[in-house]
Amino acid sequence: MKLPKLQLYTKIFIGLLLGIVFGITANRLGFSDFVSDYVKPVGTVFIRLISMIVVPLVFASLLVGTASLNDVRKLGRIGGKTIAFYLCTTAIAIVIGLLLANVLKPGAGLSPETKEQLMLDGKEQADIKIETVLEKPTVTDTLLNLIPRNPVKAFAEGRILQVIFFALIMGIALTMIPAGRAEPVIKFFAGVNDVIIQIVHIIMKIAPYGVFALIASVIGDFGLGILLTLLKYAAVVIIGLVLHVVITYSLALKIFTRLKLGTFFRGIRPAQLIAFSSGSSSATLPVTMECAEENLGVSLEVSSFALPLGATINMDGTALFQGVSAVFIAQVLGMDLSLSQQLTIVLTATLASVGTAGAPGVGMITLAMVLQSIGVPLQCMALIMGVERILDMCRTAVNITGDLSCAVVVAASEGELKAI
Ligand code: ASP
Repeated sequence: MKLPKLQLYTKIFIGLLLGIVFGITANRLGFSDFVSDYVKPVGTVFIRLISMIVVPLVFASLLVGTASLNDVRKLGRIGGKTIAFYLCTTAIAIVIGLLLANVLKPGAGLSPETKEQLMLDGKEQADIKIETVLEKPTVTDTLLNLIPRNPVKAFAEGRILQVIFFALIMGIALTMIPAGRAEPVIKFFAGVNDVIIQIVHIIMKIAPYGVFALIASVIGDFGLGILLTLLKYAAVVIIGLVLHVVITYSLALKIFTRLKLGTFFRGIRPAQLIAFSSGSSSATLPVTMECAEENLGVSLEVSSFALPLGATINMDGTALFQGVSAVFIAQVLGMDLSLSQQLTIVLTATLASVGTAGAPGVGMITLAMVLQSIGVPLQCMALIMGVERILDMCRTAVNITGDLSCAVVVAASEGELKAI
């Protein structure tokens, strides 16, 4: 069964546009509370439905994918390539962000009054983020946390990396027992996987309404005035994101695959729109996987591993945002960042993006880690709080684009990319 690709995309796109218009109208005419109370829940229904299937989908698809590989070395190769791709593109993203911020200087020329106002407006939200940062686990904890003490708890709490770990172990073990014993298990989970994909199709029917509601409530709550104050900063982030997609991913796809760029970007549009409106790469995962398999021809073996991993550890858009934001905040404070401080940003931002799952707003928590590492007071995150949600939407769309380009590149290198 196939998704009605173009038609679905067009409907979601119309939902997005109408949501923007409705949100702006609500903001202007002062009925954004009505939108929060009665329209937003439709978006929440959509996000809940789609989040509901993330864990079973990741587990069933990865188990079947691993068990059907028949070769643990191949799994190792796919893993190595995937992680290498993720780390390289993340580092490139931060370098693009740092270069742009140094050349275009978005933080220079912000008046002291504006600065004070921004600090005041964003203080409350920034404080919430700072509290979360102080509880962050160490690198060793993050690594140890890959192994679940109890897989059922990992499922219940939606810990994707632990679910991945357990599915991999179980998939590998399945290849080691006699085929007759393994087959019923694999068949069962293959069936579960098919059912979940069918559920994705059902949920996607309400995607246009969900996207409309999500966007309308974000724009309804959002003061457009603040966007103008922070226009230069927001523009630098967005230019960086566009450059990263156009240069880094397009080049990678051109060099390593024979897939036409048009096919790639057309195929991933539903996932990009859902990522943009939900601000969560984890919630978008079922759609991302669907696009990879049905629209781009990536095999289950690669997509079921690379995409859940990417939704959790690969956040190029977020990393680029952190590069620009750290330099922006330093510029507003009149601090000069040395080369070694900028290299610290690259390192911390790359590592920070590994430790946190893709959910709305986590980029600010990891930004706090970056600011800490270069000695910028965390309270200054308040400066950019006003445009955080909008930039979160843009960077999430880029994050999943990065995951999908990795899946295509790795699949092509392993001969696992079907012609579409
Ligand atoms: N919302 C982003 C994601 O889910 C993470 C972030 O940048 O806040 O990918």
